[in-house]
Amino acid sequence: NRQIRLARRPVGEVRPEDWAHVTEPAAAPAAGQFAGRTRFISLDPAMRGWLDDRPSYLPPVALGEVMRAGSIIEVTESNHPDFAVGDLVAGTFGVQEHVVCDGRGTLRIDASAASPSTYLGALGMPGMTAYFGLLEVGALQEGETVVVSGAAGAVGTMVGQIAKARGCRVVGIAGGPEKCALLTGELGFDAAIDYRAENVKKALRTHAPDGIDVYFDNVGGEILDAALACLAMRARVVVCGAISQYNSTTGVQGPANYLSLLVRRARMEGFVVFDHAPRFAEAAREIGQWIATGRIKVLEHVVRGTLDDFPQTLQMLFRGENTGKLVLELT
Ligand code: NDP
Repeated sequence: NRQIRLARRPVGEVRPEDWAHVTEPAAAPAAGQFAGRTRFISLDPAMRGWLDDRPSYLPPVALGEVMRAGSIIEVTESNHPDFAVGDLVAGTFGVQEHVVCDGRGTLRIDASAASPSTYLGALGMPGMTAYFGLLEVGALQEGETVVVSGAAGAVGTMVGQIAKARGCRVVGIAGGPEKCALLTGELGFDAAIDYRAENVKKALRTHAPDGIDVYFDNVGGEILDAALACLAMRARVVVCGAISQYNSTTGVQGPANYLSLLVRRARMEGFVVFDHAPRFAEAAREIGQWIATGRIKVLEHVVRGTLDDFPQTLQMLFRGENTGKLVLELT
């Protein structure tokens, strides 16, 4: 059983030496368990946070432990009444080729409804994050102006499309002309801002002239600060993530414009998607309908390779090399 374990806590950007590539004997399933072969591994920016030894919403990955990851496995052997050989199962199985599990906390997926990897993206954790972050935390109302950063990523592409489905004006912020063209073209955003080439604050004033009602923040840092300067009255700022700060060795940079929250009587609120777990099935039904009717396009970036490609694939997130949900498919 090939596995990727945490060898050393990274400082700043994760380095190849921070991982140990090991091979262990593959365990057989006991009574009430099943075994499976990993097919797809989810790459998530949150993984960077799990490597730091500090308290968060989940405990850090321990040194020497198999790296935590969401994945889809195919059942190869079963002593469990609810799982049969050939079933596809989503769960937090870690970065390893062979998995033994009792089924708790897993989801058997319906591959006839959507391709398996969709359950790591649009119908999985990123989709749930977009749905509850925007509709519950952001309390989105029809006709509002929504701005989302990290707009061409797994969460961002869903946030923008859900907001469009709810009759809102949507402005996306992303890196590079190709990503911006995708947002305003195929994904139907009203405008896109290339933060690498444009002055974000100026562009926000142009594309959201009446101010931002909901700012869905995936990146933090300077882009958050620019958005804070452009809030409408009673705006909501959804603090989903801050990928621009995850590799920082000098602490998180705070926004200089945060007092706009006061002037605009606006609300900035953080959330963790897992708090909404009791309603995931409801959200997946609604997202599933939007996918089936073509209202939402599923955007995936599938890298085909082996388990040993995990470290370099993870780095793609921090270099903006993915468009849509990044997944490693084991071949
Ligand atoms: P993405 O698919 O959006 O991938 C990451 C993207 O971030 C890159 O493609 C890149 O796009 C952008 N990026 C990387 N570095 C920077 C930078 N320095 N400045 C600005 N943008 C940068 O990832 P996800 O959709 O999976 O995650 C998006 C955010 O949502 C993350 O912050 C994540 O932590 C958060 N999250 C929070 C959850 C919660 O419960 N609160 C749950 C799930 C995710 P570009 O080319 O545009 O720069």
